[in-house]
This record gives sequence, structure tokens and C-alpha cells, in this order.
Amino acid sequence: MTTQYFSALSQKEAGTRIGGSVIRTGGLVAFPTETVYGLGANGLDGEAVSRIFEAKGRPNDNPLILHIAKKSDVKELWHSVPDTARVLMDTFWPGPLTLIYRKSSIVPDEVTAGLDTVAVRMPEHKTALALIRAAGVPIAAPSANLSGKPSPTSAEHVKEDMDGRIDVIIDGGPCQFGVESTVLSLVGTPTILRPGGITREMLEAVIGPVELASSILSPLKEGETAASPGMKYRHYAPDAEVIVATGSPKEAAGKIAELYDSKEAEGLRCTVFATEQTKHFYRGKRCVIIGERSDPATMCANLFAKLREQKDTDVIFCEALPERDMGLAYMNRLLRSAGFKTI
Ligand code: AMP
Ligand code: MG
Repeated sequence: MTTQYFSALSQKEAGTRIGGSVIRTGGLVAFPTETVYGLGANGLDGEAVSRIFEAKGRPNDNPLILHIAKKSDVKELWHSVPDTARVLMDTFWPGPLTLIYRKSSIVPDEVTAGLDTVAVRMPEHKTALALIRAAGVPIAAPSANLSGKPSPTSAEHVKEDMDGRIDVIIDGGPCQFGVESTVLSLVGTPTILRPGGITREMLEAVIGPVELASSILSPLKEGETAASPGMKYRHYAPDAEVIVATGSPKEAAGKIAELYDSKEAEGLRCTVFATEQTKHFYRGKRCVIIGERSDPATMCANLFAKLREQKDTDVIFCEALPERDMGLAYMNRLLRSAGFKTI
């Protein structure tokens, strides 16, 4: 298959018109959102949706998110709209918040992996909204990477993984958040299944106490079922080994410096993901600046791109962050990319 490319800037109209018609006729379109690039198909067509799983090599028990362009479209996809959802939609949509509730009968099993709930989000990105409108259907879309790889935050990343496997890529430049949406289940007590750009603190300010799924910061125990099926798979893995150093910045830097030297002595090539505030700890070592420690959103925005870029590195050392605000989303992605390996 030849993949067609469109720039969301210079070919805006053609990209959304052709992309929309490809989606309507059962094809696959990668498109920019404010979180990461999505790989979209007609969310009401089970056969089209199954092509997403093929193109990504995604396990078919891992459900997808439906993307809509109008808040009221959620009514057709859920069997009812709970009051909590209304408040959250009014406050945070369009934006990086995915809500899970009981599905209606029009949602195909391929989208929900057979579950009786469905995840829905209204993105804020103009190109994403224009594409959904042009398609005229909800767009089912996971991240547009090969399953297991870091999510794509630029069209180049999508091309690296998906060229020749999908019909269209729309290039909208780098993504604003760089991590996927917050996934919040509204079945029972509101529970975050995946942290993202809408933080627990922001949600609690609007709806009161919100729980965190245990698998956000630790691997599933044997025999435990995942609240969100996606959490049981290895995720965000770059080519190199990732090791997370815990403790204060100084403690983490001490642990990193020691292991860096011993790994290099073994002939392994090492890189440290440092921040503007901590780079001075690593003089003489190969460092990549991942963002500002005082603003974890900047670290989230760069993490996946920096993980992908390390082609000549065997080991990547990263500093842990406090698990609050955007630090929770950062640690969730980082620990997964490290296979939970900490020092
Ligand atoms: P991605 O499409 O890569 O952004 O992943 C979507 C995430 O949402 C995965 O972790 C899924 O397991 C999760 N998800 C989607 N739908 C549901 C659902 N109905 N119940 C629980 N988790 C879901
Ligand atoms: Mg993904």
C-alpha cells in the first residue's frame, strides 16, 4: 500500500477532505491531536476498526477510544449520559480527557474488545476536529505507533512506524501535550485508568474524590485483571534499556553517575535524560535535556520524541519525579518504558 501524505498547513482542505473520505470508505488515516498522533478508522464499522489492530500489531483485547467533534454525539455512543460526565464534558472538552461509560448498541465489539463500556473523547486539535467532521462518523483511534513503541508526537514518528501500512498521514507538526489523554472510568467511583493532561487534581476540583487504578505506577500482579486492558502490555519501549533513578535529584544523580560509569566500562553506550535544573550533576556524561523539572508538562511533551531519537544508545538513565499533577503522567509513561526497572 502507498501511504499518501498531506500537510495540515499547506494542504489543509485536501488533507481533511481526502482523509475524511478514506475513513468513510473503511481506510486508515493518521492525524495530529493535541496529545499524540492517532491512527483513525470509522468507529462504527467493525471491519475498518480491525484494520487498525492489524496495522499496529495491537493485541485485539485492547479497546480503542472513539473521537467525536461535538459533545452531544456522545449520546449515541453511551446508553445514557451520567451527570458527572456532563459536568466533566462542560469543563474539559474539547481536550485531553477520555471518559468511559456503558456503551450503546451501535458501538461495534471491535472498538470495545467485547467490553460493555466505551471510551469517548472530544479532541481540541483543529485538524482532528476537521477530520472527524469530514468523515461524518466517530473516529476510533489509538496512538499511531507500532504496538509497544513510544507513541508518535510528530508525523515523522508516524512515518517511521506506519509508512506503507496505512492509507493517509496528515502532518500537523509536533503535538502539544506529548502524552496520551487522561482515561477516566465513570462506572462506579470515578477512577483514572491512565493519567494525562487533565490531572487528578484538576478533576477533583470539579467532581470531588477520584481514585487511581493500581496499575498506573506498578506492574499487574500475577492473576490480577487490568481495569484497563492496555495496562497489561509492555508499552513505550525504545530500542535502548531504560532505567529510572528514584529519590531526590541529588540522590538520583548519585545512583545514575555510579551505574553510568560501570555500564560504560562494560562497553555499553549510556545517555542521561536530565533537566535544566539537574544537568550540572552530569558533567562529562552524555546528556539529553528533557525539560524543566519545575514544569513536568515540558518533560511529558518531550519524553516520547527523546526516547525515539536515542538510536546510538544502549542504556537511558532517567530521574523520577514526584507523582503529582503532570508528574503522575510522566512517571506512568517512564516506568512503563523502563519495564518498571528502578534503582
Ligand atoms: P490508546 O488507544 O493507545 O491511547 O489506548 C487507549 C487506552 O484506553 C488503552 O489503555 C485502553 O486499554 C483504554 N481503554 C479504552 N477503552 C476502554 C474501556 N472501555 N475500558 C477500559 N479501558 C479502556
Ligand atoms: Mg497507544
